[in-house]
Amino acid sequence: MRTWLRSWIAACVTCLPLVAPPPAARAAQPDERPVVRLVATGGTIANRTGSRLTAAELTASVPALDGRIVVEAEQFSNVASGALTRDDWLRLARRVNRTLAARDDLAGVVVTSGTDTLEETAYFLNLTVRSERPVVVVGAMRPPGTVGYDGAANLRQGLRVAAEPAARGRGVLVVLNNEINAARDVSKTHAQRLHAFTAGSRGLVGVVDRDRVLFYRRPLHRHTRWTEFDLAGVERLPRVDILMTYLDAPGDLVRAAVEAGAEGLVVAAAGAGSTTEDQRVAIGEALDRGRPVVITTRTGGGRILPRRPRPDPDAAPNDPRYSPLRIEAEDLTPIKARILLMLALTRTRDGAEIQRMFQQY
Ligand code: ASP
Repeated sequence: MRTWLRSWIAACVTCLPLVAPPPAARAAQPDERPVVRLVATGGTIANRTGSRLTAAELTASVPALDGRIVVEAEQFSNVASGALTRDDWLRLARRVNRTLAARDDLAGVVVTSGTDTLEETAYFLNLTVRSERPVVVVGAMRPPGTVGYDGAANLRQGLRVAAEPAARGRGVLVVLNNEINAARDVSKTHAQRLHAFTAGSRGLVGVVDRDRVLFYRRPLHRHTRWTEFDLAGVERLPRVDILMTYLDAPGDLVRAAVEAGAEGLVVAAAGAGSTTEDQRVAIGEALDRGRPVVITTRTGGGRILPRRPRPDPDAAPNDPRYSPLRIEAEDLTPIKARILLMLALTRTRDGAEIQRMFQQY
């Protein structure tokens, strides 16, 4: 070997410690990267043909994070979202609460879910996770292994939002397709397309762009850190059923729900809150039996307005329209109203109190 080459190599070797510190010195550097906990529940995002992706495999599908976020993977369940139960919700919310309480170092949590009931799980967590730190729910419309699998992209975006300090205090967020939506407002509005989740006229909370995560608004309804719902003493969530109004809808389904054990009912009423006459009579019976009945609209948008005051306070004392247990849902969708009523029933049976909750959450 030529003398100049030999001395050049020797010089480089001598310089090496300056360029790359030895492993011991490197380990001593504090790791400033945000840590996000991934809690996987299943759904299409994991539904590979043959076997479902585990939480660890989902994490491995987003190497494009380039090590900028430390992801801890945890498997909660691995099922279709339609297989989750109210007991699973209790366990999931408790687990997220416990994790956040025990780990000050966590920037946030990402929960993966099947998209079919994703907005329900997101709203349940929105009402029961008592932390300001971001909890982000993500899913996918196309399964792993298919052309255009959106799961890795959505998961990557969800992790970025959960790691983002500006996401704090905005309640549980739903992230798919580069869009950030509030758990309270978002619905799955398409059975097939990638752009399946929208919040209608309430609009986006923010977007996940290539360069950064951008927020447009802060949801104003009570949520997360500001919730009054505490699962500490709750062993089970009460049964609440949803009945829909349609032309000539019978009242006997309302009666059947009460007979089957429903402790409250939600009516997906027509338009601004109308039901069939037969339903109106059956709802009156349910109210008489002490079951709160929440009126929502099946239209997908707009509020149920507060009732006009009873014209003559002594007239028709049993008129169900004026029962204190008849609750207007504001603009909550029927499936979200069911969740709020279940949680309300863990605290009170008082109609005025339940109505207050429907105005605040
Ligand atoms: N059936 C699936 C589920 O909700 C649908 C999905 O994840 O997109 O689990």
